[in-house]
Amino acid sequence: MNIGIAGAGLVGRLIAWRLARAGHSVTLFDADSKAGEQAAGTTAAAMISPFAELAVSEPEIFRLGMVSLQCYPQWIAELEADSDCTVMYRQQGSLAVAHSPDVSSLRHFQDLLLHRLPVAHTQAVRVLSGAEIDDCEPAIAGRFRHGVFLAEEAQLDNAELFVALESALTKLGVTWYEQATVIAVAERQLQTTQNCYDFDMVVDARGVGAKAVLSVRGVRGEVLTVDAPEVTLQRPIRLMHPRYMLYVVPRANHRFIIGATELESEDKSSVTVRSALELLSALYSLHSGFAEASIVKWSVNLRPALPDNLPFVGWRSGVLTINGLYRHGYLLAPACVIQALALIEGK
Ligand SMILES: Cc1cc2nc3c(=O)[nH]c(=O)nc-3n(C[C@H](O)[C@H](O)[C@H](O)COP(=O)(O)OP(=O)(O)OC[C@H]3O[C@@H](n4cnc5c(N)ncnc54)[C@H](O)[C@@H]3O)c2cc1C
Repeated sequence: MNIGIAGAGLVGRLIAWRLARAGHSVTLFDADSKAGEQAAGTTAAAMISPFAELAVSEPEIFRLGMVSLQCYPQWIAELEADSDCTVMYRQQGSLAVAHSPDVSSLRHFQDLLLHRLPVAHTQAVRVLSGAEIDDCEPAIAGRFRHGVFLAEEAQLDNAELFVALESALTKLGVTWYEQATVIAVAERQLQTTQNCYDFDMVVDARGVGAKAVLSVRGVRGEVLTVDAPEVTLQRPIRLMHPRYMLYVVPRANHRFIIGATELESEDKSSVTVRSALELLSALYSLHSGFAEASIVKWSVNLRPALPDNLPFVGWRSGVLTINGLYRHGYLLAPACVIQALALIEGK
């Protein structure tokens, strides 16, 4: 089929790649350049955290997340082969900790998680003593006496994923219109500010940009990227606090992503002083080596969320719509794309 896709963020690129490698003729349209800086997907920390999310989300998010977790190793291997790029994907678990005054927040998180967790998965959640935390993450030894280890959680490098998808799409012959703002989508037609295009099928993956046709809202998130040569962490660490849950996610070469605030606001202006202080103090309290870290960048973006905070994959006026991945885009994208491909097959 000849398929037009509005939006080349996380979901748009991913489904374009799966459709192109299945032999469809694919055309992508994005209001932004191929670098995708406007996409929430390039700001994200890209943790794949079905367990941590279960404490604060619907069971459906966990179920879909487990589908994605199963899918990622094979998709990443296929993407590396299709693109000639490497994409860091690691499944070494994540660790939630709290400083002594905040241990009740961690216990609450642990209780909620264990209460909601299907019995078949309880072995993937382990409560750790101080000594066990020290073994698990030697860099933060002696700082925490209570932790929760989520053994099956994963992470990937989203910057590498975006580049690899772009490269694979080029090699697979996908047509990609940059700076092409889509103003209308219909069953077989897609309209940009410049032109009208006819297709056999249209996919809408515009995230917050689909407001005209969907009650999607943006949820502001701020993250910080630092280089900290003195610090080595094996896995993402979540720091529990009564007012927020912040995380530090290690990337290659002692680079770390620190995030994320979550604010009901569609303001995309720069990071506020309050958010900067919260993120930086969380960081510094984890490891004193972060004091000498250099700040590489601050980023702000909007998570696309529907009123129920659940993802939507389905037909709307004949257009295949994927939206509402909210704070779980990396967790949910493969599962949502698999659902979308099944709908296309069944058409
Ligand atoms: C700070 C932050 C941290 C996050 N951390 C995580 C995490 O650790 N784990 C996780 O699973 N998820 C995380 N997320 C969530 C994840 O990034 C999103 O759920 C995901 O990016 C949504 O994918 P999407 O493709 O629907 O939207 P986007 O990635 O936002 O892509 C939408 C694309 O549509 C384009 N577009 C918009 N309007 C138009 C138009 N009219 N015409 C053409 N193109 C248009 C945009 O330019 C963009 O490229 C985080 C998000 C943020 C902001």
